[in-house]
Amino acid sequence: MSELRWDPLIDSWVVIAESRGRRPADFITERKRIVTTVCPFCYGHEDKTPAEVYALRPDASRPNQPGWRVRVIPNKYPMLRIEGQLDARGEGLYDVMNGVGAHEVIIETPDHDRHPADLHATELAQVFRAFRSRLIDLRRDKRFRHIVIYKNHGLEAGATIPHTHSQLLALPILPPHLRTALRASRDYFRRKERCLMCDLLAQELHDGRRLVRVDDAYAVFAPFASRHPFSLRIVPRRHSHDFALLTDQAMITLGETMHDIMGRLRAVLRDPPFNLVLHNAPSALPRPGRSDCWGSLSCDYHWYFELTPKITDPAGFEGGTGFFINPTPPEDAARYLREAVV
Ligand SMILES: [Zn+2]
Ligand SMILES: [Zn+2]
Repeated sequence: MSELRWDPLIDSWVVIAESRGRRPADFITERKRIVTTVCPFCYGHEDKTPAEVYALRPDASRPNQPGWRVRVIPNKYPMLRIEGQLDARGEGLYDVMNGVGAHEVIIETPDHDRHPADLHATELAQVFRAFRSRLIDLRRDKRFRHIVIYKNHGLEAGATIPHTHSQLLALPILPPHLRTALRASRDYFRRKERCLMCDLLAQELHDGRRLVRVDDAYAVFAPFASRHPFSLRIVPRRHSHDFALLTDQAMITLGETMHDIMGRLRAVLRDPPFNLVLHNAPSALPRPGRSDCWGSLSCDYHWYFELTPKITDPAGFEGGTGFFINPTPPEDAARYLREAVV
């Protein structure tokens, strides 16, 4: 029997089409390989990228030279450009503004052939430190409302360079998905004086059927209304609205969780392409005339990562209705991942 399920955080309905009962083996196909000639992210090619804006250099080597462990550079082909003013304006009923923002690349390791699932917790923690540093720096720019950090792994998930990296976009507007989640979190907090994600987490820990992994600091579960097979949320167990508040030690613990989860996905789905997105609080800039922003943000919003394997193609139904059809119930996905031998 199929089920329609609702996710209160993102106000989204999904069809869990259990009769289709897709198992991991049904999603395993020949993964496409990305072909490159000269990799601009490797040691010795620092001059092939724009000048770095951050680098972790334990040996105190010079900028834009080898010696870094993590390196952040502006994207050579940016979606949005850092220079200029927004110049927001109306065109009849439509709204227009200049494509101002920041688009950066976080190169996660100097090693061209490292699979993200093979980065150790301490290496991942170094990547998270780069995220934190860039978040803090870019939030000073009052033109940017929100900073989204994401990773595309594999050609089918949008990666064009195989050398493992993440990307950052500083945006002059709030993405509609975030706006929905912010509103849902705030409304829930107003009614109950509790955080929606904290309550969801407590329920998932109690229920257990969708849990993949839990330790003292993080829980990983397949969302009740997962829009895609094997998608996962990685959630800090202690309430926090802002990833940038994480301590170095908490980043190592997060690295352990991330390392374990990526290993499980690789084992169960044989190196699936995936997207990993950090869902974090927006920049709490003053909003003239909007007294509802951001008074309760630190109480009502709860950051998390969402990891989505790109193993199904959205059909016309998804595009036309915004409904998603997921052929693998999240309870089954969580069980496969729990039982994975890494
Ligand atoms: Zn490389
Ligand atoms: Zn919370």
